[in-house]
Amino acid sequence: MKRKVKITLVAVICIYGVTVAGVNIADLKVGFDYDDTLIFSTPAFRAGAASGQESYSEGYWRVVNQSFNVEKVKLVPMSIALIYKALGFDVVIITARQGYGGEELQEHWKWLAKEFHFERNKSSILEKGSFVAFFGDSDSDITEALEAGVRPIRVKRSKKSDYTGKYHPGQYKEFILPFSD
Ligand SMILES: [Mg+2]
Repeated sequence: MKRKVKITLVAVICIYGVTVAGVNIADLKVGFDYDDTLIFSTPAFRAGAASGQESYSEGYWRVVNQSFNVEKVKLVPMSIALIYKALGFDVVIITARQGYGGEELQEHWKWLAKEFHFERNKSSILEKGSFVAFFGDSDSDITEALEAGVRPIRVKRSKKSDYTGKYHPGQYKEFILPFSD
């Protein structure tokens, strides 16, 4: 290996090490909403609707939460989550879903997320930790981050999502993540 390349490589590794150490000492976190943010989960909600369970009942949520095998990862938001993780940040997922039957889902994302919360009031979690940002698709994700004093980042919702409510990107002058739909 050429000397210059070697020195550059060593420098990069050192900077990486120092960054990771710094982030870990500071216990920094980054938050992500789940549905339509990290994951395209319309198929899971369709499975819930098709199950014959009453909408938003315990049985309905059990079906939705256990249908993660039909969900799809959203490439840009997931890549960003992985970069944060590699830099030493704790990735925290917060979903407003009800948690019925959600243990397997939490287990499924353990490799990525240090914490996975079923919590309607997202700001209650955001205001407790040292979060550098919260990524979400819904207007409420943005307002709850602002409420907690955390920087909101808007993730674009897929045009194929069945969910169309609470979606006005840029309404709060928040940063909109390009190519995130
Ligand atoms: Mg969402």
